[in-house]
Amino acid sequence: MDFGPTGEYPCLIRPRQTFTGGIRPFSPHPSSLSSTFPDSSSQRAVDQTIKIRFSNRDAKAFVKDVRSRVTDYFEQTGKSRKATPGMVLKTFLILGVTFGTYALIMLGSLTLGQMWLATFVIGLGMAGIGFSVAHDALHGAYSSNKAVNALLGFTFDIMGANGYMWKITHNVIHHTYTNIHDVDEDLTVSPLLRLSPGARHYWFHRFQHRYGFLAYGLATVNWLFAKDFQQFLKKDIGPYVNKKHPLPQIALLVVSKALAITWMIVLPLVYLDITWWQFLIGFLTAHMTAGIILGVIFQLAHVVEGPEFPLPDDKGTMEYAWLVHEMRTTANFAFANKPLSWYIGGLNYQIEHHLFPQTCSVHYPAIAPIVQEVAAEYGIPYHYNPTLREAIASHYRMLKKLGPEAATMKDLAVA
Ligand SMILES: [Zn+2]
Repeated sequence: MDFGPTGEYPCLIRPRQTFTGGIRPFSPHPSSLSSTFPDSSSQRAVDQTIKIRFSNRDAKAFVKDVRSRVTDYFEQTGKSRKATPGMVLKTFLILGVTFGTYALIMLGSLTLGQMWLATFVIGLGMAGIGFSVAHDALHGAYSSNKAVNALLGFTFDIMGANGYMWKITHNVIHHTYTNIHDVDEDLTVSPLLRLSPGARHYWFHRFQHRYGFLAYGLATVNWLFAKDFQQFLKKDIGPYVNKKHPLPQIALLVVSKALAITWMIVLPLVYLDITWWQFLIGFLTAHMTAGIILGVIFQLAHVVEGPEFPLPDDKGTMEYAWLVHEMRTTANFAFANKPLSWYIGGLNYQIEHHLFPQTCSVHYPAIAPIVQEVAAEYGIPYHYNPTLREAIASHYRMLKKLGPEAATMKDLAVA
């Protein structure tokens, strides 16, 4: 039985319910290192990670049932797990609206006010491309054709974020070590924010519930200019020790950043009859819009009341089997809000996404009741906030609870 992220990461997780990778302080000895890499076989010989294990306990039956019942659903309906025509239509629509709006600005026929409104639309479009096109494509969930996934995944790079690094930090690290402090990179997005009880505390975190949502607005600007470069320069990323990156990926990083900076900054400054500060307002409007939406939606999956922040014991063993761990650390929200589900690419169904990351997001609403049913049978938690508003309120309370230095898991328990 495969306990990996749906068995869809072939080399990171092994059937023995153990996999390499882990938390540095728990295994300081080089003898415990082993070689793995999630997406490139050429890297397997050089990358090193430290061991961490997910305990098996009684989870085998749950894992078997949830996987077989979801497989039954696809077999009985005859549906492919990949994109539907509706998903393809959405892709064209979101890309068309985003770049159509950009073209409208660049044609120079809009007034300043209209241009400013258009930058909001571009911000909405950038987040939409991230949610509904790139996220599925980079997971290999969009199509069974790798070239299609690679092409659509490149929209991520065009938005200024590096797809190769995302596959490491999100597909592998975040999806495997979800909510494990010091490994899950999503918990350490910025020192401005303390997103888990294990995170380092600064005095200003006591105000983070007031500025946190605004801080998310800086996410895509930070991504464009700093985050990817910092990640490429880091020796250790999450569980990876002494990480090396292929030269072509370094070259692609430089080229794609130049491409993003050209369409976002150079072309508008050169061709539009606007001042630098007018440009800056438009640029920041688009990025703040995209950043806040992306930041908040992703936080609603793991940093809300309910999901846990488990740590391994001193031998590097987690309490629960990997798939149960995902159930305990992830939350869903707002199933009834269809327009929201559509726009955020099914990321309100994060539990199903974490269980089946290579299944296209359009199928999550159909498989959610199956997952819920099996979870209930085995007494495994299924965290859920019924509305977007409730999920945001829960995240706000989490930011507030994590503000004081001594916040522990007990303090984070639902009031
Ligand atoms: Zn994902």
